[in-house]
Amino acid sequence: MRRIVFSLLAIALGFNTNAQQATWQQRVNYAIDVNLDHTNHRYAGKERLVYINNSPDAITKVFFHLYNNAFQPGSAMDVRSRTIVDPDGRVSDRISKLKPEETGYLHVSRIQQDGKVLSTLESETILEVTLVKPIAPGGKASFELDFEGQVPLQIRRSGRNNSEGIDYSMSQWYPKMCEYDTHGWHANPYIGREFYGVWGDFEVNITMDKKYVLAGTGVLQNGNEIGCGYVAEDAKLKPQAGYKNTWRFKANNVHDFVWAADPDYAHDQAQVPDGPMLHFFYQKNADYASVWKEMQPLAVKAFTFLSNNYGKYPYSDYSIIQGGDGGMEYPMATLITGNRKLPSLTGVTVHEAAHSWYQGVLATNESLYCWMDEGFTSFATQETMDHLFRSGMPSGHKSAYNGYFDIVREGKEEALDTHADHYITNYAYGTAAYSKGEVYLAQLEYILGPVAFRAALLDYFNAFKFRHPDPYDLIRVMEKRSGLELDWYNEYFVNTTKTIDYSIAMVNGTANATEVTIARKGDMIMPLEVEVKYTSGETETFVIALDIMRGEKPADGYNGKWTILPDWKWVEPAYLLSIPTPISNIESIHIDSYEGMADVNRKNNQFVPAEAQTFFIENR
Ligand SMILES: [Zn+2]
Repeated sequence: MRRIVFSLLAIALGFNTNAQQATWQQRVNYAIDVNLDHTNHRYAGKERLVYINNSPDAITKVFFHLYNNAFQPGSAMDVRSRTIVDPDGRVSDRISKLKPEETGYLHVSRIQQDGKVLSTLESETILEVTLVKPIAPGGKASFELDFEGQVPLQIRRSGRNNSEGIDYSMSQWYPKMCEYDTHGWHANPYIGREFYGVWGDFEVNITMDKKYVLAGTGVLQNGNEIGCGYVAEDAKLKPQAGYKNTWRFKANNVHDFVWAADPDYAHDQAQVPDGPMLHFFYQKNADYASVWKEMQPLAVKAFTFLSNNYGKYPYSDYSIIQGGDGGMEYPMATLITGNRKLPSLTGVTVHEAAHSWYQGVLATNESLYCWMDEGFTSFATQETMDHLFRSGMPSGHKSAYNGYFDIVREGKEEALDTHADHYITNYAYGTAAYSKGEVYLAQLEYILGPVAFRAALLDYFNAFKFRHPDPYDLIRVMEKRSGLELDWYNEYFVNTTKTIDYSIAMVNGTANATEVTIARKGDMIMPLEVEVKYTSGETETFVIALDIMRGEKPADGYNGKWTILPDWKWVEPAYLLSIPTPISNIESIHIDSYEGMADVNRKNNQFVPAEAQTFFIENR
C-alpha cells in the first residue's frame, strides 16, 4: 500500500513539476503594525501573514530574512566586508566598531501557525521555522509574529542618521519571508548584496511621534489625518488625537516594503501623464532644495520614456525619498542621497526608477542573476539619460563596453552566472552586474537588429512581469521575436568569461575580386557584419551569420547595400569573404563598424588598402 501511494504521489508530483515549472508563484500577504520609539531607535510590532503555497510541494519549514542582524560585530556581513580584497568604502570595518546602542537587530519573539506556537532557529540574518502542520500544495497557512528591532546607525542602505541627516531609512527592517520557487528555498544570509522576495499585498501601519514626516512603498490611506502634503484636494485635515500618528500604507503586488522618516521632509507631487503620481521627499536645505524642484519635471519625462520603451509602469504611485547611502531601489519607492547637482540627482533618480521595471516588476532572482537587474537597469538608465540630456547625439552604451573591456584586460573578470554573494572581488561583481549586464542587451540588439530587439524587450516585460524570469526565459523571448536560435549566446556570454576577437587576417587582391580572410582569434563565437566602403562613395554590408543561429538579422532600414553571405560554420577558425571587385575600388573594410560587438581587440577589425603595410605589421 505504502509503495503504491508513494509511486502515485511521485507521478502526480512529477507531472505537476513539469507542467507548472516557471508558471507558479508563492504568495504572501502581510499586515504589519509597528511602533518606532525615536528616543532609543527601537521598534516593536506584530506581523500577520497569509502564505499561499502555489508550489506542487508540501512545505514543512519556512524561512524569514532578519536583515538587521547583519549590523552586529562579527556578523557574516562584517567578516565579508573586512576580508574581501577590495571592500566597499561605505562598510569596510565599520560594523566591527559599532557600540551596542549603534548596532542593529531584529528578533522574532514568538511565531504562531494557525494559532499554534512554532519552534524557531535564528541563525543571524535567517530565521528557520519548523511548521506544526505541512502546507499542502495549493494550501495556505496564517502566521502571526511578534518582533522587535533596533535601527542600526546607518552603515549600508538602511539605518538611522545618514550622512545627510535623515533620521530613519527603514529598508530591510521587518521579518521578510524568503522566496521558494522551482529551485527551492532561497535563504541567503545577508552580506550586503542582492534581494529576492515573494509577491504579495502589504498593509503597513506605522506609529511614530507626530514630529515625523513619513514616506514609503505604496499609497498612504489616511492622508487626511496626517497632512504633510498627503491631504486630498477636496478634503479637510482631521488630525489624530495624541502625540503620535499612525500612518496606514497599502501596496498591492509588491515583494518588499521600504519607508523613511524625518522631521524636515518637504513633500511635492508631480503627475506623469497616463502614469503614476510621483512623490518627492527631501530636506528643505538651501544647498539643494532648488535642485530637487528642477529635477521633478525630468523625472516625469523619464517615467514616460521608460513606460514607452520598456513596458508600462503598473502602479499608481512612486516615491523618490531622500535617505540611505547613495541610491537603492524598492518597490514603488527609492532611497537616494539628495545633496547633488542636477545631472547627478537626475541620474540617480532615473537609475532607481528604472529598477522598477527590472527589480520591482520583473523581479529576477538578483542573487543568482544580478546582471538581469543592475545591467538591464543600467541599459534603460543610459538610454533615458540620453533622451533627457543628449537628445540627437546619444552616447549609447559605450561606457559599459569600456568597463567590460577594462576588467578583461586586467584579467579579473568572473562569469555572469556567479552568485552575487560569491564573486571574489567587489570589482568583478560590479563590472559583471552593471557593465557586462548592460553590454549583454546592447549586444543582443546588434545580433537581432533593432526592430526585433526593441519589440522583444517589450515582450519580455509583458510576458514575465510579476513572474521572476531567468536567463532562459529572457533568451527564449528574444528567439521567438527574431526567429533566431540564440542559446549559444547565453552559453558563452553568461556562463563563461570567453571573449570575442575577430580580425582581418589577410587581404588578397586579384584582377576582379578582393579576398578577405577573417580570423576568429577569441574563444567566443559571434555573427559578423563587415562594412565595405567603395571609392565610388557607396557602402555595402556583408552579413555573416553563425550556422547555429538558423537565420540572420534583417537590414532594418540600413542605408547601404545589405548582402547576406553563407553562414560561418561555428567550428571554423576562419572565413573567406570574397568581394567581387578589385581592391583598387575599395576604400576600407571594417568588421563591426558600429561597434555593437564586445570585441576585446578592435584594432584588428579594419583594413584600409592605402595603409596596408602598417596594418599587417600591427595586426600580427
Ligand atoms: Zn541599481
